[in-house]
Formats: sequence, structure tokens, C-alpha cells
Amino acid sequence: PTKSTVVLENMLQVDLRVIPPESYGAALQYFTGSKEHNVKLRTIGVKAGYKLNEYGLYHRSDDALVEAEDEAKIYEALGMEWMPPELRENTGEIEAAIEKKLPKLVTLDQVRGDLHVHTNYSHAIDPLEAMVKKAIDMKLEYLAITDHSQSLAIAQGLKEDKLLEQIKEVRRLDDEYSEIRLLTGTECDNKSDGSMDYSDDLLSQLDWVVASIHIGMQRDEETITNRILEAIHNPYTRVIGHPTGRLIQKRNPYEVNLDRIFEAAAEQNVFMEINCSPNRLDLRDVDARRAKEAGVKLSLGSDAHSVAQMEFLPLGVSVARRGWLEAPDVVNTWDLDKVLGYRR
Ligand SMILES: [Zn+2]
Ligand SMILES: [Zn+2]
Repeated sequence: PTKSTVVLENMLQVDLRVIPPESYGAALQYFTGSKEHNVKLRTIGVKAGYKLNEYGLYHRSDDALVEAEDEAKIYEALGMEWMPPELRENTGEIEAAIEKKLPKLVTLDQVRGDLHVHTNYSHAIDPLEAMVKKAIDMKLEYLAITDHSQSLAIAQGLKEDKLLEQIKEVRRLDDEYSEIRLLTGTECDNKSDGSMDYSDDLLSQLDWVVASIHIGMQRDEETITNRILEAIHNPYTRVIGHPTGRLIQKRNPYEVNLDRIFEAAAEQNVFMEINCSPNRLDLRDVDARRAKEAGVKLSLGSDAHSVAQMEFLPLGVSVARRGWLEAPDVVNTWDLDKVLGYRR
């Protein structure tokens, strides 16, 4: 047998397939492409007189091998550029590869900052300074401190005086650690009536305002959409956090008209988040791609509630890549002055 299923100690299931080394490229292509991508690729192959399977690319007429070892050469023989596995969904990537118009997908090493983290000022585990040190270890150039706001009691949201106290500590640490720039901020609740959970006066004192919905998610689409539109029109909002509210395998996204949200966000220069927490990962890839097409820039936030969770950033990068995003589409690849200057 050449097929087996292995369950790792961490319970991850892995399909193991043994193939001859000379078929490595063909097998890699076959198993990383989605079914839809591979069907389309085989159709193109047939028209060109080829046969493609996990062992190689062959001439249909005499079964002579064209290529098997190198995945890129298989794509080349089929008349197109190699493309990253994240794009292999038959949603336009094959056409783009034929025309040599594939996106240059954003990479993790282009990410310069994290724009959404929590500390033990609210309900997260680790102190502010520990988060800062971790960001420095990760070679980040900037970090936004965005604890929960006052009405979110369940997450020990910060009352005004505590936020003012935190602002002082953030500024002090910003002076102390010259390796990194720290942004004062909040993940401010976008409340059921559409208003923000802090006064404009307080919000105006912060560098970075993420507006998020955490309660009252069972309303109809019109209500939720208007509520987010109101947050977008608040002059201090920088980012709409986890814009669909889904929790993977736990809670469906709320009803929201994303097209209206994207249109307003593009007009107001408000960023939409790709939340990097494995529980959330929203915007999803397909929505991030639509956002980009609507002229919206995307902001990555680990939404870390501990030092260890700051390592979630790469998950958001994967979503961005599946959403066809290039470095200029992702705010976190910009230098901080450009990020801060984008609105107003
Ligand atoms: Zn949140
Ligand atoms: Zn958060």
C-alpha cells in the first residue's frame, strides 16, 4: 500500500502518501491544488494533448513523460506560471497565471507591526510590558495596545481612569524601549445603538481605535450594518475589528451587508481587520479579497490575550494570501507614519 492515515500526538490527522521521488513535483501539485483547480488544470492539459495525474504530466498520444519532478515545470508546460498553493481554488488564478498577472502575495517577513493586542489591564493574561518585550523579540517595529472598553464587563473593560493610566504607561514604555513604537489604543465596543463606548474626547487622545461588536449580535442585517457604518463614520475609528463576529465552530457570523461596509470603509479610509486568532480569522479570505476589490486596506491583529498568542500573526497572513492580498493591501507592511497618516 502507498496510502496511510497518521494521527500525530497533537491529534492532527495527516494523510501519508508514498510516491517515487521522481514524481514529487506532480504529487505536490496534485495534493496541494483544490479539486476545482485540478479539474480545470486537467481540462487545459487535455486540450493541449496531455494527461496529468499525481505521477506526472504525460503526452496523451504515447504516454511519454513530459515532467514529473518539478511542479513549476508542469505549470510551465501547461502554458502558465507557477502559483502559490494558497491561490489554487479555480477562482481566477489559472487565467491570471496564463496572462502572467498573478498577485505578489504578502509574506510574513513583510509584516512590521501588530495592531490589536490585549493586556492584563483588561482580561488578558500578561502585563503590558511583557507584550512589548515579546513584540521586540518578534522584531516588530510597532505595536498597538488595544484593551477592551468600559461597558464590556465580561472582559474587564477599562473604565476611563484606568485607560488614562494605561496611556501613561504606554508612553513611558515607548520612551524606555527605543526599538519599538507603541501606540496607545482601545478595542472600543461598537454598542447596540451604534455609539462608541468612550467619548470622542477620550478617543481623540488615543493613537489607535479598533471598533468591534461583542454584544447584541442577534439583530437583523440592517441594524448590524448601520451600527458598523456608524462606527466607520466616527472620526477616531481606525479599524473595524473582527468584522463578521464569527467564532469558528462555535458561532455563525452575524447578519451584515459587507458590500455597504466596504464602500463606507474605502471612502472613510477605515481599515478592515483580518483577525489572526484561530477562533476567528475574519474577515475570511473571500471577504478580504472583496474588500480589496472595493478599495479597502486590511489590518492584521493577533488579538493576543497572552504573550504566546502574539504568535497568531502568521495565521492572518495565510488568510491574506488566500485572499490575493499583496503587501500594499496590508497596512501592517507600511511604515508607521504612513499607517497613522492614512485617515485625516
Ligand atoms: Zn474583540
Ligand atoms: Zn480583541
